[in-house]
Amino acid sequence: MKKTTWQPRTVAAQAAGHVDPVTGAIVPPIQLASTFERDPDNGYRRGYIYARPDNPNVRVAEEVLTTLEGAATSLVMGSGMAAATTAFLALDRTPDKPAHVVAPNIMYWALKNWLAGPARTLGIEATFVDATNSDAIAAAIRPGATRMVWLETPANPTWAISDIAATADIAHKAGALLGVDSTIATPVLTRPIELGADIVMHSATKYLNGHSDIIAGSLSFARSDALLERAKGLRSSLGAVLSPFEASLLVRGMRTLHLRVAHQCASALTVARHFSGHKRVAEVLYPGLRGPGHNIAAKQMQGGFGGMLSIRVAGGEAAAIGAAARVELWKRATSLGGVESLIEHRASVEGPGTPCPPDLLRMSVGLEDPADLIADFEQALS
Ligand SMILES: *Cc1c(COP(=O)(O)O)cnc(C)c1O
Repeated sequence: MKKTTWQPRTVAAQAAGHVDPVTGAIVPPIQLASTFERDPDNGYRRGYIYARPDNPNVRVAEEVLTTLEGAATSLVMGSGMAAATTAFLALDRTPDKPAHVVAPNIMYWALKNWLAGPARTLGIEATFVDATNSDAIAAAIRPGATRMVWLETPANPTWAISDIAATADIAHKAGALLGVDSTIATPVLTRPIELGADIVMHSATKYLNGHSDIIAGSLSFARSDALLERAKGLRSSLGAVLSPFEASLLVRGMRTLHLRVAHQCASALTVARHFSGHKRVAEVLYPGLRGPGHNIAAKQMQGGFGGMLSIRVAGGEAAAIGAAARVELWKRATSLGGVESLIEHRASVEGPGTPCPPDLLRMSVGLEDPADLIADFEQALS
């Protein structure tokens, strides 16, 4: 059976079918070399020159990810932030003609801060809108100046849902690109390129790797065009490529992505249902529950609503921090998407100016038995 006809999960399980031609090893070897031999005729027919532009282990990870996303090609980077900032820096712009972008009010905090601050000095001008509202996105677009609309769906830390297909239409009609931070949805649940996105970004630190033991990021592209070439050039000149060892761990993580995400979706829904309507809970935020965004989520997420939820604790900030202090099984830590469940008081992480409600605990559901997770948070609330 030909690799080109394999389903995405088959490609992921087999690490794109790579077998080491020298030893027959069924796990791609870690190639640590910083430099590669030139051919006698001065060429580089084996395809590698130096490990800053890319390296063999990064290319295996990219091959798997490109299949998972249904993309033309992918770039694996040293972090999610490296990937996201590269997507913006690669936009078409000149010193006297900045690139205008439209981005969500609710999005990954560090990226929003970068867009609102340092990005301005680099010729990127962001307008932040309620990205759950397509009309608000359309109204923020400046015809001829807007280069990209950026979505994050579900969005940190309220899991607000944006309509990818509707936003792709709006962006494309105005001659702008659509970029999607799909870290939370993962390619198991949503394939944004099939819905019209031009660039898909991941913090591969999260679900793609899935074991809380590397920092990595990625960009997948709908087309191999000038945008890709500029992003590739930035990765090389900024030195933002992932190291071979971490790329190898990322490939190992992606082999089990489908299994992990399916379990995490089922458990998150169980936890969300258990605590919605609970007397010590003000609100459970989860796109799998009836509420704003649920119908769009059901349309663009296949097989589940993700492993992330947030609980707003009745009694406000002190009650929320108190509950987080009493958990024994959940780990109090930032980040998400690993096999162990994490909980965090998100407003403490984001700091002054955050739109995050002060009573909100962000929960990343791992692979434990959901009954244990529920019992532990029950005792923490009481
Ligand atoms: C973690 C995260 C990022 C940043 O990724 P890093 O790997 O930490 O640089 C961006 N977007 C989302 C949604 C994230 O959860």
